[in-house]
Amino acid sequence: MPKQRHVVLLIADSLRYDAVYPSVNLPFVTSRGQSFHQARSAGCWTLPSTASMFTGLYPHQHGADTASRQLRLSAPPLAARMVEAGLEAHQVTANATTTHIFGLHQGFSSVNRVWREMRQRYPSIHKALVLAGKPRLRRRLFTRDALNGQLAADLTASTVWLQNTVGEVLDRGRSLLEAAEKRGRSTFLFLNLMETHFPYHIADTVEMLSDGAIGALRELRQLYHLVNQSWLTGGGAEPSVEGLAVIRERQRRAWLRLAPMIDRFVEELVTRHDALVVLGSDHGDNFGEHGWAYHFSNVSDAGNRVPLFRVGPETVAEHHHRPFSNLGIFHDLLAAIGAPDGIPLSEAPEHAPAILQSCWYHGHGRTLPRYRHHQLCFIHEQRRLLHRAGRWHQSPVTIDGPEAPFTRLDAGVDPLAELPSGPREAYRKTFDDFQAYTERL
Ligand SMILES: [Zn+2]
Repeated sequence: MPKQRHVVLLIADSLRYDAVYPSVNLPFVTSRGQSFHQARSAGCWTLPSTASMFTGLYPHQHGADTASRQLRLSAPPLAARMVEAGLEAHQVTANATTTHIFGLHQGFSSVNRVWREMRQRYPSIHKALVLAGKPRLRRRLFTRDALNGQLAADLTASTVWLQNTVGEVLDRGRSLLEAAEKRGRSTFLFLNLMETHFPYHIADTVEMLSDGAIGALRELRQLYHLVNQSWLTGGGAEPSVEGLAVIRERQRRAWLRLAPMIDRFVEELVTRHDALVVLGSDHGDNFGEHGWAYHFSNVSDAGNRVPLFRVGPETVAEHHHRPFSNLGIFHDLLAAIGAPDGIPLSEAPEHAPAILQSCWYHGHGRTLPRYRHHQLCFIHEQRRLLHRAGRWHQSPVTIDGPEAPFTRLDAGVDPLAELPSGPREAYRKTFDDFQAYTERL
């Protein structure tokens, strides 16, 4: 095994690239590690994107997405590969989506659900849970949205929405690592932090950013419609531009609170425990870009461009600017443990081209026709090629600053045909396979 003793994948859920850049606020990580500026998630929410990082496959290949919610394994997932190689594999998560509910627990020696272990700091938490236990209110809170309904099967999982759990996640990760070291074992650790996810923790417990009771109520209403995506079914007004700007600021502030804790934790892992740490996000979040909100059903930079860093005992500060998919993390962590089929992230994108996929969101079958389309986006060199509702669109890749809008191409124009041989055939196959996959759904 190379010099690092442990490998750690640390995910700040839903964190957009531009909530982190340009200021970053990770002095240790950026002075010692590689920064990847054009990483994209393969899916636009936790299940497809995490399944891609765990398998090295795109959503249409592993099948874990909005419609199917089934992870198809054609080979052992990352955690199982780590165990095969002699490491322990532990998951500590604040997100119920990464657990047994959707099959993402597979291969781990242990899955630690932080909401089962945390101290409750939210004074009304008990009351909120009792209320949520009343069927009528619970229906109103959760079952408008089928997915939230499924997650609410473990009612206490939603307590991570009410208070910070980062301290518990990091402490638990540290103690698992130290216990493994005492046994003379190396560890693969997967950590998921929810502070940067809805409702975006700007304080230790849920608080509104807006001043005054009316502003706070308006913000709470925006958050409610955001998480329930009620506009998709015509059940609520589309979130307003001003309201979404406030929510975007919530995520930025959540990151500013989280960053110093993460940087200190990563420094400790690298310098005291000889760990290689890959730090990033599972997907982004839309706050009004392309007329979209929240993180389902889209393939935009807001929803898929993610921060990504890699730091270990042997890394040096480097910046990488070629677009690639963060499912390359699968191959990278295998390279880190010396597996023959491992490929370092610095060699992306050849084995992990930036291909973004989304399936439309069903909402109990009530989703309005104008939102019923699956989407696929290829990022080739400096162009984004988007296929939506039977038509191609294109847009340049943005280095920094807001993403450019997509322009719709004339009917009959096929931008894949203009690509050089190699990517042309590979993308064509992905396009055909994705069409076949979505037709089966
Ligand atoms: Zn997520």
